[in-house]
Amino acid sequence: MSSKDIECSFVTLKQTIPLLIKHNISAIPTNYALWYTYVSNDSPELNKKLDAAVENNLPLSDLHAKDLYRNFISDKEEVTAWGLRQSLEGMMIELSQSLIDTKSDTQAYKRVMDSCIDDLSKVEKEGWSVEEVLGLVRNMVKESQVIRQSTISFNGALVSAEKEIESLKLKLQQSQHEALYDALTGLCNRRYFDSELDSKLALDTLSLSIIDIDHFKKINDTYGHQMGDLVLRAVAKKLQASCRDNAQIFRYGGEEFAILMPGFDLKKARHLTDVMRRGIEKISVKDRRTGQILGDITVSAGVAQKQSSDKKLALIERADTLLYDAKRLGRNRVMPMS
Ligand code: GH3
Ligand code: MG
Ligand code: MG
Repeated sequence: MSSKDIECSFVTLKQTIPLLIKHNISAIPTNYALWYTYVSNDSPELNKKLDAAVENNLPLSDLHAKDLYRNFISDKEEVTAWGLRQSLEGMMIELSQSLIDTKSDTQAYKRVMDSCIDDLSKVEKEGWSVEEVLGLVRNMVKESQVIRQSTISFNGALVSAEKEIESLKLKLQQSQHEALYDALTGLCNRRYFDSELDSKLALDTLSLSIIDIDHFKKINDTYGHQMGDLVLRAVAKKLQASCRDNAQIFRYGGEEFAILMPGFDLKKARHLTDVMRRGIEKISVKDRRTGQILGDITVSAGVAQKQSSDKKLALIERADTLLYDAKRLGRNRVMPMS
């Protein structure tokens, strides 16, 4: 991102905040993103909706905002979130600077006060009456308290603004993370997969495996959903551990995983997938409540190499068909057979 872009998104953000205040909208990242997009006028449809909501005095609840956000922004979310982050960082730097300025003002002021008090003691030595000195001190203390109080509260406001921005930044990073990663397994999610596949499709050599846990419903039914979740995590961990040569693992769906293998021909991709399958056979998961140990976890997989004419869906479909063949032939296997 160029500095011009950063400057531009900073300007947009600065227009966004007054809108949030004006419409009494809470400062959650979704709302930021929504009104940020409104100001940048990237989505005329969204602007129409928001204008209509404001005109009809509709409550702009967080829930409503989330809906709009999903409909109009989530596709561009990464781009917008990036812009927002840049802006917040810009704002942070600006605020930190004024915070430093204020801190040093306070310190300079304290130094002046200290030297005044020193002077006063000299005055006393030089024969001022106690009453005179006390009167002077009383005045000074009163004035200094007023000034110090306002400096302190200004300082406090800056510190809390800085904290607020820090926490917004964190929330933004979290929502960015949530948008691309699966919460249960920590793997990259389907959405991440879609964008990765789009960009990797240009490669000459690329293979894809789709791996599906066998009879997973039975695991859930027999041992409970929680145990099912543990199995999903154990399988994800094993897949991740066996991953090599830039292969990427994704949670593709419920109990399905995808492996994107840039630079892998079919033979090499099949080999890695089978190594993974064998690794999963060895997994055992312990149910902490009953102490029961669950083994015999198996997966089936379909592997396809991209053909020169392949579009995205064609590659996925071929891997899917082969996965279906693997299930039909008795599961716990990788197709094609060699
Ligand atoms: P097959 O060998 O043919 O793949 O059979 P299967 O039982 O694995 O396949 P099916 O599609 O019938 O069942 C998949 C089950 O996975 C159904 C669904 O409830 C469960 N599931 C999906 N996501 C999760 C999850 O996040 N946690 C748990 N515990 N179960 C999940
Ligand atoms: Mg399935
Ligand atoms: Mg299954």
